[in-house]
Amino acid sequence: MEKVRRAVKDSVGEVMMDRDLFHRCVGGNIVLLIQAFRKKFIIPEFDVFARKINEIYKTVQEQRDGKVADYIPQLAKFSPNLWGVSLCTVDGQRHSVGDTKQPFCLQSCVKPLQYAIAVHESDTEKVHSYVGMEPSGLKFNVLSLDEEDKPHNPMVNAGAILISSLIKPLANKAEKFDYFMEFVKKMAGQEYVGFSNATFQSEKETGDRNFAIGYYMKEKRCFPPGADMIDALDFYFQLCSIEVTCESGSVMAATLANGGICPITGERVLSAEAVRNTLSLMHSCGMYDFSGQMAFHVGLPAKSGVSGAILLVIPNVMGVMCWSPPLDKVGNSVRGIHFCQELVSQFNFHNYDNLRHFVKKQDPRRQDGDDRNKSVFNLMFAAFSGDVSALRRFALSSVDMDLKDYDSRTALHIAAAEDFTYAMQFGHEEVVKMLQEYQEDWKQQDGEVEQPPKLDTIEGMI
Ligand code: GLU
Repeated sequence: MEKVRRAVKDSVGEVMMDRDLFHRCVGGNIVLLIQAFRKKFIIPEFDVFARKINEIYKTVQEQRDGKVADYIPQLAKFSPNLWGVSLCTVDGQRHSVGDTKQPFCLQSCVKPLQYAIAVHESDTEKVHSYVGMEPSGLKFNVLSLDEEDKPHNPMVNAGAILISSLIKPLANKAEKFDYFMEFVKKMAGQEYVGFSNATFQSEKETGDRNFAIGYYMKEKRCFPPGADMIDALDFYFQLCSIEVTCESGSVMAATLANGGICPITGERVLSAEAVRNTLSLMHSCGMYDFSGQMAFHVGLPAKSGVSGAILLVIPNVMGVMCWSPPLDKVGNSVRGIHFCQELVSQFNFHNYDNLRHFVKKQDPRRQDGDDRNKSVFNLMFAAFSGDVSALRRFALSSVDMDLKDYDSRTALHIAAAEDFTYAMQFGHEEVVKMLQEYQEDWKQQDGEVEQPPKLDTIEGMI
């Protein structure tokens, strides 16, 4: 876009798209454009997918339950009607619906980022010599440590306060803040990342519980040598007060979905190890006292915050940021949770959805044109040569056995059209039976889809 802007500025009079300007426009994005024209994106039918997201958004908007957090005025001021969802795929396709340009504080959504940065800059072992990796089974802000006197995990307050002391331990306060902001901006592809000083001041003033946790950990000698507990708390309050929008937050989530490489800038921001650890902990501990249910029903790593944000990651596919201030009893955004559940009930994004055999849910990642052609070719060839075991293998891999070639012929047509003697010799009869059985099963499984050709319509060909 920068090139287009420059070209418009440089031009005198009307801008015409000539060959040279076209080259200058597409030059930097040629790989992305080729992917687009070849439908090589992770979600090839992105407009169809985006329309479904809009439908889910609208359904979820009807939810009126929940209460906006009011322990500080900076959170209480938000309207309960605010509702936004942005997504960014690992190859940079974007979609936003609702209030996605309004800044809000990350609050606890910063915890996975803190942890990821700490692991990225040192290593897993060192970080986990100070903090555990087990769900606590307790509220996020209780004064509790595990059996080794370590915070239970990095997603509860004690863990996050401790991790604040591990990040850039030798730097002064200003340097630490700048360093963290730089990281977050890189994750967000240099899109909006701000800071709410009012929230920071309020968090500090009302943070008695966090001070208590800090003192308790100090007494138990949880902090690394030389760390100042009050400084760690101060840094933690600052980090909770970092602002994003749904749009920029979705790029951050996409960087996590993409193994630490920002899909917008292509820059490696976090190590693959840091990202994998972070996603594992988000999966088991990211959603307060709903974490177990989230892992069960949604099966995706996510982290929520009291601002009403939910950072959701669909590994290797996309990052999502949902935001709606009304919270349920455990502190999760009511609409955000509904969105995650609805998303996974329609699409097979749950970590344990079977990608090969489950037919009731949609898979927006399904085959592109090239794969489809390959499948048609394989099916036809197996049908022609009477290769029943190959056909069974395709059926088990959930290849659509009714795929048609350029003349609308299916594998069943090919098998049935072979000469009878030849058919007996090369197993075509068996192929016809097998494909017919498949049709029967298929009819029972899903009545809504277009039916395959009936065998009697091709009988004449035998
Ligand atoms: N600033 C809040 C606290 O530390 C964060 C709460 C949250 O989002 O979980 O209590």
